Amino acid sequence: MRFFLLLCVSALYLFANAHIFLYHRFGDERYPSTSVSESELRKQFGYLKDNGYEVVPLERIVAKINAGEHVPEHWVALTIDDGYKSFSQNGLEVFKEFGYPFTMFVYVEAAEKKYPDFMDWDELKALTQSGGTLEFHSYSHSHTAKFDEQKLKEDFEKGLKLFKKHLDITPKYFSYPYGEFNENVKNIALSFGFDAIFNQNSGAVDAKSNIYDLDRSALVGVSDIKKLLEQKTLQAEWLAPISFPTNGILNKVSAKITTNATKAKLYVTDMGWRDVTINGGVIDEEINYKLTNERTRVILKIGNQISTKMLAKE
Ligand SMILES: [Zn+2]
Repeated sequence: MRFFLLLCVSALYLFANAHIFLYHRFGDERYPSTSVSESELRKQFGYLKDNGYEVVPLERIVAKINAGEHVPEHWVALTIDDGYKSFSQNGLEVFKEFGYPFTMFVYVEAAEKKYPDFMDWDELKALTQSGGTLEFHSYSHSHTAKFDEQKLKEDFEKGLKLFKKHLDITPKYFSYPYGEFNENVKNIALSFGFDAIFNQNSGAVDAKSNIYDLDRSALVGVSDIKKLLEQKTLQAEWLAPISFPTNGILNKVSAKITTNATKAKLYVTDMGWRDVTINGGVIDEEINYKLTNERTRVILKIGNQISTKMLAKE
């Protein structure tokens, strides 16, 4: 009995996955693909509340992963990218009503130049009085995989300087603009000393997640939050592709997976899903597909376990 209990407990630890969600705009009908309506937001929060999920500050999840500790299965963190005014107009009240903390990743140039759709520095700062934490989302919000090293560094330096000047905060976290990155972008971001970096790939996080490539599932339009909460991490070591192919042709997908399964589902943006075979924990699938999207995701799924490799055109 004791052994059985031990097995159950370790299985629980092994499969403990928390979820980080990502919002952009709120109640902004002009942008249905990046906005969530107030009623939909209320529905999502109601679902979390009624089903025993605890919305925690992002740093609690990061601390668990950093310590290599099991992340409680019922933990959820809410993040918002860009800093749109529509959040303070249509979203914030709902967050306050439920008492949910949130992390806002700031697009610095938009705040600095007071772009019409965005919150200015004072409005951003005010969020810290309402359960908000402010973090960094680049200066220029560009397709940074196309930047050379110098241009990238300048973007970080400029953005971080303004962030510190106006908010008097040194951000700990960074989220990739458009969720796009390559090794170069990741390494330069790391050189600026962030404690954690977030992507825009649907999934979950657990004790083994890469702290510099943490999955966030987007909640835009009408989302099936129940299904997103069922997603688990898939431990996959991606062997190919490593980056966006220079000739634009995805030759093959190869990965090592910790699994006993013999079949997986493989997705490539625009190409869609196909079944693939796993041989002794290895997937080696010929593809030969001309990539048409500058931001392509290659996804492997076994049941509800998911791993994504994101390819950004350089
Ligand atoms: Zn963004």
